[in-house]
Amino acid sequence: MRFTYSTVLLILTVVQVGLSVPLGIQYDKDPKKMNKQEKSNKNRFDTAQKDANKQISAMRKGIDKFHAGDPEATQYYEAAFGKNGVNSDSRHVDANIQRLENGKIKVKTATHKMPDSDMIAAVPYTPPAEGSSSQAWTAKDAVFGEKFHGGINRQGRAGTLIHEATHQISRLGDHVGTDGNIITRRPEDNGKPKSALDGYTNNPNGHKTVHEVAHDTDFTAVRNNAKNMHDNSDSYTLFGSLCSQPGALSRRDFDLYNQALFERDHAQLLHIARRNSCQLPKDYFAKKAAAKKAAEAKGNKTPQKAPASGGSRGMTVMSIRCLVV
Ligand SMILES: [Zn+2]
Repeated sequence: MRFTYSTVLLILTVVQVGLSVPLGIQYDKDPKKMNKQEKSNKNRFDTAQKDANKQISAMRKGIDKFHAGDPEATQYYEAAFGKNGVNSDSRHVDANIQRLENGKIKVKTATHKMPDSDMIAAVPYTPPAEGSSSQAWTAKDAVFGEKFHGGINRQGRAGTLIHEATHQISRLGDHVGTDGNIITRRPEDNGKPKSALDGYTNNPNGHKTVHEVAHDTDFTAVRNNAKNMHDNSDSYTLFGSLCSQPGALSRRDFDLYNQALFERDHAQLLHIARRNSCQLPKDYFAKKAAAKKAAEAKGNKTPQKAPASGGSRGMTVMSIRCLVV
């Protein structure tokens, strides 16, 4: 029996290699023993976990496309990690994404009192015991403050979960050393002198476009100087956000899009959606063809209503999954 059991375990282990399991969450207490606030927090964590896993899948596609030389993925990679081979090593980025795909983050469910109201979350570390031969610091459960539960949006919560997971699972860092490089939480970086800089982006809800990143000059100054941006936690949040965006309408195209919608100008709508890499509803063309056919059958030459899934113009903008920047 024992042998058979071991064989089964071995087979399961082999099957799991190469497969991605979503990022899991390990709560510090049994849901049955959670109070009202903790239950509400857990629901929020569960949603953030689903959102984070969508982003992690998009990051996987993004890094694979980057390695295949895709120009759009290269823009996202370089926005988050700088130049490969200069500011970062894409093999480490790939490995860290793989750890996110298969890892589990341990969290404290209760809302944590943070030392600073601007702090969203943290992974505390305990130093090695005095006299211990190991130099490794131990990651404790991630803690999340009021800002996580009430001050940022869903995108921000998903990004925060990814950020904290990289600290806990891969020992990545936030601070920048006096040499301009990111200080990790690996033993070799213990006691490394810090500068006043850090690797955070300035949008806790996540930058949506490369254009926005270019305007975050505190971040780009660090990114363009460091040699190990693959060790920077917030770069993964940023890469996940950039890879997950369905396309963004520029302000000019937003106005043109609304005008085309008002005028029921299908050709212009399609042109703008394509120009902005937006995703059209799956049934867009089927509905359009059906509307045209119905109009022809009636001998009605007036243009038909745009096949919008939403009732208002605002809803239609959402229906093509475009964001306004
Ligand atoms: Zn951090």
